[in-house]
Amino acid sequence: MNGMRRLWAGFGLAALCGALVLIAAHQVEGPPAYRETLYVFGTLVEIEIRGEDRDTARTASAAVGRLLQELHSDWHAWRPGGALHAVNTAIAQGRTVQVDERLAELLQEGRRLSCASGGHFNPAIGGLVGLWGFHADTPPQGAPPGPDAIAALVAADPRMTDLRLEGHRIGSVNPAVRLDLGGYAKGAALDLAAAELRAHGIADAVLNAGGDVNVLGTHSQRPWRVAIRDPFAWGVVGAIALRPGEVLYTSGNYERYLDHDSERFAHIIDPRTGYPVREIVSVSVLDSSGIRADAAATALSVAGRTGWPDVAASMGITAVLMITDTGRLMATPAMLARLEPAGDSLPGPVELIKLPARGTALSCGNGRDNPPRY
Ligand code: AMP
Ligand code: MG
Repeated sequence: MNGMRRLWAGFGLAALCGALVLIAAHQVEGPPAYRETLYVFGTLVEIEIRGEDRDTARTASAAVGRLLQELHSDWHAWRPGGALHAVNTAIAQGRTVQVDERLAELLQEGRRLSCASGGHFNPAIGGLVGLWGFHADTPPQGAPPGPDAIAALVAADPRMTDLRLEGHRIGSVNPAVRLDLGGYAKGAALDLAAAELRAHGIADAVLNAGGDVNVLGTHSQRPWRVAIRDPFAWGVVGAIALRPGEVLYTSGNYERYLDHDSERFAHIIDPRTGYPVREIVSVSVLDSSGIRADAAATALSVAGRTGWPDVAASMGITAVLMITDTGRLMATPAMLARLEPAGDSLPGPVELIKLPARGTALSCGNGRDNPPRY
């Protein structure tokens, strides 16, 4: 499965697999679609704009390209030269540093999302992500890190609530905080990219970052249809017709991993143990906010097969599809109502999971600096 994408937007299916075309390749009515592909955030980002003249679409798409490249280098977790790298360096040295409005807001939002997830989503654990070898452009090789090194980073207990944000100055009371925004940066970036398209007057478009998708408007006379890929087979679990402004994000433990001695270690780390998640193979979240859906898909992977409903409810997520390592399919009623089988039926029976009421929201406590995490 390595190298295969976890989810395909309908518009890209023609190129990938003729049998799976969900949307006709050629529209007869209106101007043709404008398409562009960029390489950012370690993945291909496909932009498709419909119903616009070529010049408008090209100008808007170029602006999105510039924006995404800028965010990619600003928010990069390990490459020197970007704003986030400067923050991590300052934190490690016990200093504060000035950041721009966009990064300050992203970190504030990261703190809120981390608290709402009960700490399962924790962008402060960059030290662990790096320790497992995921701070590299190529897949990690060799043996997993030793238990002592893992235990030391877990004991150092880095949290988003350790950050001190005063205006645009940022520091941390805990030098073990190392920010890695990989769990929600794509969602934040696609939300900003969608706003950029709107500012250029674009009404109908899709942004697809390796399977994480934001849509504007409709495909033409019909909705944008996006397929969720089957992590166990060359095919799809089903498809969803996205309403204007909706997003669909998938976290998978099969996309980036370390293989060693026939064991596979995924790139999503449980902050409680310091070890990669095991039992969840793929989590898809349908929502109206890319940043929240992205953070939630990561958080629910960590929360696992019994813990995820509480975390989803606390984060305000209603539509979830979860696939476990044993092939079990679980979905919330809101997701099941929207999931259309690709063929005659879904690939297996789907267990319906009702979420608890949102009143049971998780939090970081009442303004206390270091409340218990779980
Ligand atoms: P995603 O594909 O959105 O689930 O994001 C996975 C990425 O998020 C990893 O490659 C890490 O950079 C980062 N990450 C890993 N574990 C966590 C976690 N528990 N909370 C937040 N971010 C994480
Ligand atoms: Mg995510």
